[in-house]
Amino acid sequence: MRRGLQIGKILGIPILLDPSWLIIFGLLTYLLSTSFAEKYPQWSNSQHWVVGTFTSLLFFGSVLFHELSHSVVARHYKIRVISITLFIFGGVARIGRDPSKAVQEFNIAIAGPIASFVLAAAFLGLSTVFSFDEKVAALATYLAGTNFILGLFNLAPGFPLDGGRIFRAIVWGITRDFSKATRAAGTGGKLIAFGLMAYCLWFVLHGDWSRVWYGLIGYYLLGAANDSVMQLAVRETLRGLSAADVMSQEVPIISGSLSLEDYGAEVLRTGRRYHLVVTDDRLVGLMNVQALHAVPREEWEHNSVQSVMLPRERILWASQDEPLQRLLERLFAADINQMPVVSGSQDDGAHVVGMVSRDAILRVIQARSELRHATPNK
Ligand SMILES: [Zn+2]
Repeated sequence: MRRGLQIGKILGIPILLDPSWLIIFGLLTYLLSTSFAEKYPQWSNSQHWVVGTFTSLLFFGSVLFHELSHSVVARHYKIRVISITLFIFGGVARIGRDPSKAVQEFNIAIAGPIASFVLAAAFLGLSTVFSFDEKVAALATYLAGTNFILGLFNLAPGFPLDGGRIFRAIVWGITRDFSKATRAAGTGGKLIAFGLMAYCLWFVLHGDWSRVWYGLIGYYLLGAANDSVMQLAVRETLRGLSAADVMSQEVPIISGSLSLEDYGAEVLRTGRRYHLVVTDDRLVGLMNVQALHAVPREEWEHNSVQSVMLPRERILWASQDEPLQRLLERLFAADINQMPVVSGSQDDGAHVVGMVSRDAILRVIQARSELRHATPNK
């Protein structure tokens, strides 16, 4: 999930708004206000919009509450919660790692639907207590219904829904096989996604576009279910491998005292667009074509690589024993193609021992999966 606009922190967890959330917030507010206008013609126009906006805000507050409840349980198991993001299809809590035990995954997953059901009951109570006030009752009745549906829908047994995680936790707990459990929950997710898309298509073919939303959610779930199964396949393929296994010893190195003019010539001569800057065999920085282009052409002669390079403190690097799975995730997260592999980097003596690239890791994944398919008895 991409980063969004941080609107605050709750329990120390950054709450982010993805730009796509504005679309759904605007749409829901509009739909609620117009439906209140139809149902309660005696209210003034501004009252329809005020109640509509409040209801919409409280709905997303409910989604946030649902995600926070997952987060609180995750934290209880010492799993870091990175952020909670609201986006067009709801909310998502990013946690630092997968739970290490089936029972933990079960409890983290079930906390969300329970929270939604508790909210549904609370809003139902509110609508009864405030039955004399049409506006509060209308708001509370809507939120009681949607929170109930939210809890129920999330219990559907397919990845990445909570029900899929609960399903995985149960299969994992019984079979002790995490991979098998993930595949089963992934398949469940795909079936639910196809079901939603088929439901939407059936209505569309009959000229009714009111259920398009279900199709879009189905499409989103399909992508997420595929991702989770793919991630698992990658993890299995890379198990036991570390940076040292795939790093290339061929490291493009230059000296910091080189002028930018000469660096430009080096890039033209070799076609390499990325170099490590090394002094006395120690890594001091990183130089690339973008940094070169940031300096006007006429100043190349009077500037050295040292003055424009990315200093060592700001370079991402890997240690030789870093697991490849984690390294690949870091490369993708930082949106970079390669990283130096260094040894003894705690002190001032970062010694470059190789380079590891996305391509090299992807080649290993491909070769390993081809070999596995070629083996008669796997
Ligand atoms: Zn949930």
